[in-house]
Amino acid sequence: MSESKGVWIWAEQRDGALASVVYELLGGARKLADSLGQPLGAVLLGDGVEGLARNLFEYGADQVYLVESPDLKQLRDEAYVQALAALAGKYQPDVLLLGGTVAGRSVAARLAARLKVGLAGDCTGVETGPDGRLKLTRPAFGGNIIATVLAAGRPQMATVRLKTFAKGTRQEGRGGQLIREAAAIDSTLLRTRVVDFVAELAGKVKLEEADIIVSGGRGLGDPSKFKLLEELCQVLGAALGASRAAVDAGWIPYSHQVGQTGRTVSPKIYIAVGISGAIQHLAGMQSSDIIVAINKNPDAPIFQVATFGIVGDLNQVVPALTTEFKRALA
Ligand SMILES: Cc1cc2nc3c(=O)[nH]c(=O)nc-3n(C[C@H](O)[C@H](O)[C@H](O)COP(=O)(O)OP(=O)(O)OC[C@H]3O[C@@H](n4cnc5c(N)ncnc54)[C@H](O)[C@@H]3O)c2cc1C
Repeated sequence: MSESKGVWIWAEQRDGALASVVYELLGGARKLADSLGQPLGAVLLGDGVEGLARNLFEYGADQVYLVESPDLKQLRDEAYVQALAALAGKYQPDVLLLGGTVAGRSVAARLAARLKVGLAGDCTGVETGPDGRLKLTRPAFGGNIIATVLAAGRPQMATVRLKTFAKGTRQEGRGGQLIREAAAIDSTLLRTRVVDFVAELAGKVKLEEADIIVSGGRGLGDPSKFKLLEELCQVLGAALGASRAAVDAGWIPYSHQVGQTGRTVSPKIYIAVGISGAIQHLAGMQSSDIIVAINKNPDAPIFQVATFGIVGDLNQVVPALTTEFKRALA
């Protein structure tokens, strides 16, 4: 077993609300900490966010490292990395996990460079390996192979894909140790300032958090056909995704794009409509539990990864599915 210095997670928050991935990280990291015989620490950065410590304790954290400063009010990589690097330098955690969110990926990459340690990005599995080292699973080469990586150096850093871990169980009233740290932030090194924050109008259900996603591709033929998918989404409580071809055609905003240069998703059910299954698209959705493909070409590569394939014209298949689900779920 390695020297006990703690398994840490970054408790990403925005406007005083913890990102949903934080609860998942707490669930997974709790098990990891127990198997390593180490405490579980959560790093909470922000301004006026102390109240969130309670949630972190109740969902499994033993310690919360709290740094508050006006410089941390809004998420800025430079300030967050300075604070995280100072904490990691002082407490020398064994493991540091961040969520595979846009912010998590950005902060993790800069932090790993600052700490001069490796980073396994977009992990879909985190286990204990030999000598207390982490065994990390991650898709590589556009999702074509699954690599197992042994972490080296300390802290062992990884970003974890959303929905990799099950959310921790809440233990009401569970407490822990709150460790307040002064913000060691050199504001002269902050080269950006947040001018405005515009919430994304990405539909009712967030893509990365959705259990069901219905995605449309070039096969839709024209943007008005997204209406068919929206109707199916509404019946299923699903989020709307898209291939890059549909985004590039200007049919739907980029925030819906799934794939190598879009979002990485891992829902319970992914329904690909009029999407051929290019590797760059598969890279973003291949780890979905169930993949349903609707395509008029029986030789489309998407059928090779599909759990269920429907060969047919989407203009007939999608409305028929919507009607059937509406009936079944009524
Ligand atoms: C560096 C790089 C990064 C990339 N990143 C991404 C990414 O993040 N995400 C992404 O998606 N792509 C990405 N791509 C693009 C990718 O290579 C493909 O070009 C793209 O995914 C194709 O989108 P598509 O499947 O919608 O279109 P197509 O490949 O044109 O497929 C359309 C499909 O619709 C079917 N179809 C047509 N009409 C109907 C109908 N009436 N009913 C049923 N089926 C029908 C066709 O049979 C066909 O299979 C990237 C490419 C590169 C080079």
